[in-house]
Amino acid sequence: MKQSELFAKTVRTFPKDEEAISAKFLIRAGFVDKLMAGVYTLLPLGLRVMKKVEQIIREEINAVGGQEIFMPSFQPKENWMKTGRWETMTDLYKVKDSSDREFALGPTHEEVVVPLIKRFASSYKDLPVYVYQFQNKFRMELRSKGGLLRGREFMMKDLYSFHLTEGDLDEYYNRVKEAYFKIFDRIGIRKKTYFTFASGGTFSKYSHEFQTVTPAGEDTIYVCSRCSLAINKEIKNELNKCAGCGGDDFKEEKAIEVGNIFKLKDKYTQPFDFSVMDDDGKKRPVMMGCYGIGLGRTMATVIEVSNDERGMIWPEEIAPFRVHIIELDGKSAKKICADFEKRGEEILYDERGVSPGEKFADADLIGIPWRIVVSKKAGSKVEVKNRAKAQIKLMEPKQAMKLILK
Ligand code: ATP
Ligand code: MG
Repeated sequence: MKQSELFAKTVRTFPKDEEAISAKFLIRAGFVDKLMAGVYTLLPLGLRVMKKVEQIIREEINAVGGQEIFMPSFQPKENWMKTGRWETMTDLYKVKDSSDREFALGPTHEEVVVPLIKRFASSYKDLPVYVYQFQNKFRMELRSKGGLLRGREFMMKDLYSFHLTEGDLDEYYNRVKEAYFKIFDRIGIRKKTYFTFASGGTFSKYSHEFQTVTPAGEDTIYVCSRCSLAINKEIKNELNKCAGCGGDDFKEEKAIEVGNIFKLKDKYTQPFDFSVMDDDGKKRPVMMGCYGIGLGRTMATVIEVSNDERGMIWPEEIAPFRVHIIELDGKSAKKICADFEKRGEEILYDERGVSPGEKFADADLIGIPWRIVVSKKAGSKVEVKNRAKAQIKLMEPKQAMKLILK
């Protein structure tokens, strides 16, 4: 893609109304645009990152049997009355039509997915079922200062599982936990992301969060110095020894919850009277689990843990492009771009007629992992630089392709 054709341009100054470094860089680099507090448009570069994050999640959730669906955001009040959350959920957006009928804008989808699966599953033979979606959620967040870390409308992957027995739920829960580690590994934040015990409310003793350590985090966690399990501050009183190894030496850290997994058991299947016949002909309440990952929050978290004073530093798997080719002093980089494209690599091609300084500043801000500079000065060779490193290497274009496409 030619950089001159990107309609969303980079901007020099930091937005004044953003606190999070991720939001500042994403806006300056033209990845997102703020419509109002907690609500953002994804621009072409931002959407490319989001789609890559989505695809990684899709592949790993498909690998644990998830079937992708797409449920409505616009939901009937009756379903929310059934579970009691019409009254109790303080961050629920309620909307009225012209005849005063009320609806909910989905902050989560138990109220839709439980009656949905109930229509199809009546016997133990129909279970287990695993369904998931990528969907915008709406939540009346009071503080919405974290940019994409805490949106009022935000994209979530939500997976729901339905089981005949608690044992089967437990087993699947562990499979999803492993899938989440794979996801955060591929996205590039695994090393800083801790499996964290959190309070589970009344239905199971604990739930688990995936917490990424960064000073920008709103949560406080305690990381076990022996086995790297963590505990959320909110339950720390209940658990003063590590649940993994029994250790009692913890390091306090600030962290962002990028995902969580939850055993709901029959909390939402009961209100919808969703039970199935087991093989003795007895009715059993269906056991349920739910598993979320916030895509925008994850994308912003990557930037919180991977940036420098000049801009963002994207991991290769989710960068908007892996390669940024910059031409200088009138020498064309068309040929090397075409060669990369022939090998299936999409390129951001900076052919703009602006100064080298401006091109380099924008490249650092946008943070594409590989930068190739084509210039008269370098003759038949090109300069190759990795965004995360200081060193610049001079090499033949063929060698550069070999290095990057390996
Ligand atoms: P938090 O405690 O941060 O409000 P939550 O417990 O309300 O999160 P869940 O309802 O479990 O979050 O949602 C699942 C995932 O969705 C979270 O792990 C997070 O990644 C994401 N998420 C939740 N709220 C937001 C938000 N306001 N903006 C962006 N992502 C969010
Ligand atoms: Mg919340």
